[in-house]
Amino acid sequence: METPLRRLARLIAHAPLNLVAAAERSSVYERHVFEAAAVGRLLAPAPGSRWLDLGTGGGLPGLALAVVYPDVSWTLVDATQKKIRAVAGFADDLGLQNVVAVHGRAERLAHEARFRGQFSGVVSRAVAPLPTLAELARGFLGDGGELAAVKGPTWAEELSAAQTALRMLHLEFSTAREVPETVRATWLVTMRATGRPPVGYPRRDGLPRQQPLGRPAT
Ligand code: SAH
Repeated sequence: METPLRRLARLIAHAPLNLVAAAERSSVYERHVFEAAAVGRLLAPAPGSRWLDLGTGGGLPGLALAVVYPDVSWTLVDATQKKIRAVAGFADDLGLQNVVAVHGRAERLAHEARFRGQFSGVVSRAVAPLPTLAELARGFLGDGGELAAVKGPTWAEELSAAQTALRMLHLEFSTAREVPETVRATWLVTMRATGRPPVGYPRRDGLPRQQPLGRPAT
C-alpha cells in the first residue's frame, strides 16, 4: 500500500503547477518529502502546539510534517494563491485534519491578531536569506517560540549576516544541526524568540527582502 508520504510526493510531482523543477519530478520523494520528514525528526514539535510553514510553495516541508505529526496544528502560508489552492487540495486528498492553508504575504499576515505571536514554531525552506526570513517569521512567534530554517551549506555565512537582525527582532541563535541522510547537504538552523514580537516588524511588503535589517542603507 502507498504510504501517505509517498502519496504526497506523487501529488506534488503530478500537479499541473511547476511545484518542483521538472528534472526532479521523478525524485520528489527522495529529494523533498524524505528531507522534510528528516527535518521533522530534528524539530520534534510538541503535541498540541501550533506551527507555521512560511512560504510553503507546493507544501514543503509543511505537508510532510503534518503527515508525520498529526497532533500538531500546521498553518501553511504562501504569497501565491494557486500554490495555496494546490496545497489545500493535497491536504484534502491526504485526509489531513490538522492543516490550514492560508494565502497571503508574511508582511501582512504577521500583523493580523489571529496570527501575531500565536505560534510555537515557524519552519521554512528555500524562501529567503536568514536576515529576511527572521523578519518575515518573527511576528508569528510567541515568547519562547522557535524559528527553524532549512538551509544549505551557506548557513554559517547567512547566520553571521543575520546577527543585527536577530538582535533587533529579539531572536537568539539556538542550534545548527546537519539533517541526516538527505540527498543534498542540509542544515536545520534554529533560533528562539524572547517576548512578544517587536512592534513594527515585519516592515511593509518587500522591504524585508529589499533592505534586510542590519545592512547599511545604500
Ligand atoms: N518551501 C517550498 C517553496 C520554496 S519557493 C519548498 O521548499 O519547496 C519560495 C516560496 O515562498 C514561494 O512559493 C513564494 O511564493 C513564497 N514566498 C516568498 N516570499 C513570501 C512572503 N513574503 N510571504 C509569503 N510567502 C512568500
